[in-house]
Amino acid sequence: MPSIAAVRFASPLPQLDREYDYLIPEGMSLVVGSLVEVPFGSGKKAKSGVVVELKELSEHKGELGSITEVLSLHPQTSAEVLELCKQVAQRQASTVGELLTSALPKRFIRAEKNLIPIPAFEQLDSEGTSSLDETLLAAKRVHYTPELISEGDGIPNWSIDFARAAARQLIAGRSSLIILPDYREVRHFELALEKLGLTQHSLRHVSTDTGSSRYSNHLRAQMSHAINFGTRTACFSAIRDLSIIMLWDDGDESHIEQGSPYWNSRDVLLQRQQIEDTHLVIASHSPSAESLRLIDLNYLVASDANGTKPLVRITDSFTRLDDETFALVSKRISDGKPVLIQIANLGWASAIACSTCKELRKCPNCQSGVWIDPAGMYRCRSCQQSDLLPPCSCGGTNTRPVRIGASAIADQLRRSFPKTTILESNGDNPLISTSASGALVVATPGSEPDVVGGYDLIVIADAAQMIGAPRLKALERAVGSWANAISLASKQSLLIFVGLSGVIADQIKELDFKSIVSGDFQDRLSLGLPPSTRVASVISNNQPDFILFKEGLEKIAIVQRLRFLPSADKLSLILDYQYSDGAELAQLLRSLANSLTAQSKHKKPGERVYRINMDDSKVI
Ligand SMILES: [Zn+2]
Ligand SMILES: [Zn+2]
Repeated sequence: MPSIAAVRFASPLPQLDREYDYLIPEGMSLVVGSLVEVPFGSGKKAKSGVVVELKELSEHKGELGSITEVLSLHPQTSAEVLELCKQVAQRQASTVGELLTSALPKRFIRAEKNLIPIPAFEQLDSEGTSSLDETLLAAKRVHYTPELISEGDGIPNWSIDFARAAARQLIAGRSSLIILPDYREVRHFELALEKLGLTQHSLRHVSTDTGSSRYSNHLRAQMSHAINFGTRTACFSAIRDLSIIMLWDDGDESHIEQGSPYWNSRDVLLQRQQIEDTHLVIASHSPSAESLRLIDLNYLVASDANGTKPLVRITDSFTRLDDETFALVSKRISDGKPVLIQIANLGWASAIACSTCKELRKCPNCQSGVWIDPAGMYRCRSCQQSDLLPPCSCGGTNTRPVRIGASAIADQLRRSFPKTTILESNGDNPLISTSASGALVVATPGSEPDVVGGYDLIVIADAAQMIGAPRLKALERAVGSWANAISLASKQSLLIFVGLSGVIADQIKELDFKSIVSGDFQDRLSLGLPPSTRVASVISNNQPDFILFKEGLEKIAIVQRLRFLPSADKLSLILDYQYSDGAELAQLLRSLANSLTAQSKHKKPGERVYRINMDDSKVI
C-alpha cells in the first residue's frame, strides 16, 4: 500500500501550480482522483484537493503533513484526465490548477446518495450502417462528412451516425464521448438518441444544466459504460473505458474557451485521443482549415457519406432579393412551403450615415462604428454604448442606413406578404425550430431554426459580403454557416446564393465546400498564416510589466515576428511561431510570465498580470 499521496488544488494561481505530498494515515483508502482535505500553508488551514498520484517516496525535504479526511467515496476524476490537464496546461502555457476547475464540477453531497447506474445495452432496434462505421473499422482517427440533407424529421444525419457509432461501442462494453458546439446541436443529438432507443444509456454533460445533475452525471460516467455527450467543458469529463471520441463542427466558435487558458475542443480532444488511445471522429458539413491540415498530414482519414444534393441557383447581382428570387419566394409561400432567408447582419442596419453630409456616423464615446440593433436602438460596435446619437459635426440630425439588416428585411417582407407568418431568428433570440407550415424565416448565420419537412427554398442572401469580410477565417466560417443552413433543406429544395462569381460560384454550384476551404487553406499556407503556423497573444494591464515581457520575448529566438496590437483598454503583444516550436514556446512564455509576475511591483493582490493565448485567431 503506497504511503504518500500527491495532491493538487483547483486554482489558477501560478504559485499553487505544483503537486504537494502528504502522508496517508493508516487505514485510509485512496485512489487517484479522490477528493481529500489537507492542512495547507504555515497556518495549516484545511484545504480540499484532488489526489493525482499514489507513491512510496517523496522528494520533499522536510516533514510531510497528513491527509485529514477523504471527502467523497467517489473519485472525482481519472488518471487519464489528470494527464490531459497536464498536457493541455503545457500546450496553452497555463496551469494544471486552472484546467482542474473545468475537470472537476462543483460537488453536491446529496447527489452522491442516489447514483443510478446505466443499464447494460445489448442491441440496436434498427439495423443500418453508415460510411462512418465502415471507415472506423479500418482507421483510428477519422474526418467525417455526413450526408448533407436529412429525412426532414428534424434529426440531422450526423447525429444518427454518431449515435449509431456510440451504440456499437456500448454493445462491446465501452463508452463514448460526443462534444457538441451548443444547445441546439445537443438537442439534435438527443433526438437521435431517442429515435434509436438510446436515451437511458446516455449521460448529458452540459454546463448550463443544474449543478446537482451535472455532478451526478459526472460521477455516473465513471461508474457505468454510457454514451456521454455535452458541450465543450465535457472534453474534461472522466469516462469509464472510453473508446471513441466524436466532435461535431470543430470550426464553430463555441468550441473555443473565451477566457484563459483559451483552449479549444479540437486540440484538447486530439490530445485526449493520444492519452486514452481511443478512436477519434471530427465531423462537420464543411471542414475547418485545421482539419484539412490534419487530413493533408494523413493524421485523419477522410470519409465522405455523399448523398443527394439540392439544386443550386447563383445570382451575380448584389441585390439580396432580385425579381426572380422574389418571384420564387412568393411562389413557395403561396404553395404553403417553408422558406429560409439567411441575412448576415443582425438588427436594422449594420452602419448609418448622416443624411446631410453622407459621412458615416461614429460612436460619440469611442469613435467606433455604430449600428442599429433589433430593438431599433443605436449601438456602438466596440464600447456597446447604446443611446441617442448627438447631431453630426455638420449639424445634421437625420441618418440613413448604409446596409439594412435582418430586422429591416423581415419588416419589408411583412409588408410584401401580409398573410404569411414571418419569423426572425438571431444569435440574441434564437428560434430552435418551427412547425409553422409555409413560414418565411429570416435568420442570421448559425441561428436558422429547423422546420418540419425541411425548407423548400433557402436564400443565402449575403453570400458575397460574407466571403469578403476582412477576417482570417471569413471564408471558412461563411461556407460552414451556409452548409449548416443548407442541411435544413428538404430533398427537393432549391438553394439560391446571391452575388457569387468566378471559381467560388462554380464550387458552390456543386456544393463542394471542401474545395473552397482547401483553396483558402492553401492561400493561408503560402502567406504563412494559421493553421500552418500559430499566432499567440499576450495581454497585460499595465505598461511597466508589459515592457518587461516584451524585452523578455525579444530574447526568444523561436518567436518569428513580434508586434503590438494597440487597443483602448489593454496592451497586447502578438507573436508568430512554427507548429513544431509550440511546446517549447509555451514553456518559455509560462516561465517568463511566472518570474515577471513574482517580481511585479504593479500588481494588485491576486491579480493576473499576464494572459497568454497560444492560438489567438482574433488578432489577425
Ligand atoms: Zn453630417
Ligand atoms: Zn463606442
